[in-house]
Amino acid sequence: MSTTWHILGAGSLGTLWATRLARAGIPVTLIVRDQARQQAYEAQGVLTLVEHGEARSYPIQVQAPDSDEPIRRLLVACKAYDAESAVAQLAPRLAPDAELILLQNGLGSQDAVAARVPHARCIYASSTEGAFRDGDWRVVFAGHGYTWLGDASHPVPPIWLDDLTAAGIPHEWSTDILTRLWRKLALNCAINPLTVLHQCRNGGLEEHHCEVATLCGELTELLERCGQPAAAEDLQHEVERVIHATAANYSSMYQDVGSRRRTEISYLLGYACKAARRHSLHLPHLEQLESRLIAHLHSLGLPTD
Ligand code: NAP
Repeated sequence: MSTTWHILGAGSLGTLWATRLARAGIPVTLIVRDQARQQAYEAQGVLTLVEHGEARSYPIQVQAPDSDEPIRRLLVACKAYDAESAVAQLAPRLAPDAELILLQNGLGSQDAVAARVPHARCIYASSTEGAFRDGDWRVVFAGHGYTWLGDASHPVPPIWLDDLTAAGIPHEWSTDILTRLWRKLALNCAINPLTVLHQCRNGGLEEHHCEVATLCGELTELLERCGQPAAAEDLQHEVERVIHATAANYSSMYQDVGSRRRTEISYLLGYACKAARRHSLHLPHLEQLESRLIAHLHSLGLPTD
């Protein structure tokens, strides 16, 4: 019997992973917020994946955090700002050889989680897959992509990557996962806040070429100072390429603000600005971008952290 995947968080990515693993016959248990959410799920009893316009439902077991079943493999699929407290709640249930897979965007939440569970192996992930919920317990697979996984302190890949292959989850073991996470963070800092402030799709930033170029210059300096020269390579060119290739899309931060959801600012632009301050690096445009974004969120009555 293969090891059960406990999946923490029944949101977009949690449901996307849970349904694909279950579809391949791999044991999956979903952990939801509390017993009220557990009962809400049990009234329906299935998770639904909508792929290529076709909906398929899978009966997946669900638990509240206070169940006493031990956990050996935990996929953390919460937002970055919820990850640490959600994992802390489960710490007493983690087996001595537990492994955690952290799907959070940005940086900062992974280290916070790892510090909470120092005996567990924490594997960091960076994904270009896209999914959104169009109803309770239901997810739409909106963008096929790739997930890179890696462990900065231990380069040997885990055996359960075979489960991902069986489940048809495109992935690659990465020996430079921090470079990938930093690069993605830099791309996010150069694009997402500006789409919120200029109220535009990604392609709208083609009209703000100078502002983007200035930010890329400062982000390059930051990455180099943080010991991430590979993540800094040709950053501006890559940012321009992404803006062009995703011109019709709204950034995830734009969508969060548009739906009045809390953003992950503290783990993206906020993390970058904090890192700059730690290195006594003065990056005026990045700092100004952070102040403008915080003021904008504040004016909308949204959390600024
Ligand atoms: P999401 O849809 O908001 O899902 C997060 C889930 O975590 C929610 O269902 C939430 O429960 C649950 N949760 C929070 N605290 C919990 C706790 N203490 N116990 C149990 N469940 C808890 O978020 P998402 O879009 O899947 O994103 C997850 C992470 O992946 C983010 O860092 C995001 O940036 C990253 N990411 C997402 C995508 C994407 O396409 N969605 C792509 C790449 C990366 P409630 O439903 O009760 O609030």
